[in-house]
Amino acid sequence: MACALLVTGYLGFVGSVSLLLPLAIALVWLGLTAWGAFDMRLGYFGKTYWRGNRQELQHIALTFDDGPTPYTHKVLALLKKYNMQATFFCIGKQLEEHPEIAVSIFENGHQIGNHSYSHSKQIGFFGLKNMLEEITHTDQIIKKVCNTTTSIYRPPFGVTNPTIARATKQLDKEVIGWSIRSLDTVIKEESSILKRIIPRLKPGAIVLLHDTSESTANLLEQLLIYMERKKLKSVTVDELLKK
Ligand SMILES: [Zn+2]
Repeated sequence: MACALLVTGYLGFVGSVSLLLPLAIALVWLGLTAWGAFDMRLGYFGKTYWRGNRQELQHIALTFDDGPTPYTHKVLALLKKYNMQATFFCIGKQLEEHPEIAVSIFENGHQIGNHSYSHSKQIGFFGLKNMLEEITHTDQIIKKVCNTTTSIYRPPFGVTNPTIARATKQLDKEVIGWSIRSLDTVIKEESSILKRIIPRLKPGAIVLLHDTSESTANLLEQLLIYMERKKLKSVTVDELLKK
């Protein structure tokens, strides 16, 4: 009797292990995929550029996402005052709304990157056809408004997945991430945002900012003053990644 119970217990144990193991593997896989989807630096879904490698140069790249907006004017004026170049990852819809600001970005020698047409919160779930459309439509608007082309793409929310990787590969886009996320759309205090950026600001850094609020435009001047003091120069993403 005791022996029979022991055998049944053993079989039960083996049964649960054989059930638990695939579940554990699935959970680890899901965890890695989710992590890879949100941290572009891992290059989990295709190559992503997130910093420059020529550390001997005192170059960094300031990047501004989600514009153009009326706040872009102040950003442009400050960049001009401190003689810095930046990259603006523009949303197609915003380009349609403020074409004259896009022209101003381009004419001031800054680089324009593609940041999708809709910036939809669901973009991570889009199929290949829609994803290709998001990028090509924005490319067409950039061409129409600024008469230029762009080879760089930054995924909204920094989310990558196999569909986005296929779309960017098919359209020959370089996917650009960042090494410093300022969280300027999340953190309210300008001093706290600066405290996040400044200690991480090393040659080769790519800084993610947004030209969508008064506070970013305000803290930018303090950041530029710091950079000038440290002899750090902001260049375009193309310039930073030049071999
Ligand atoms: Zn964005």
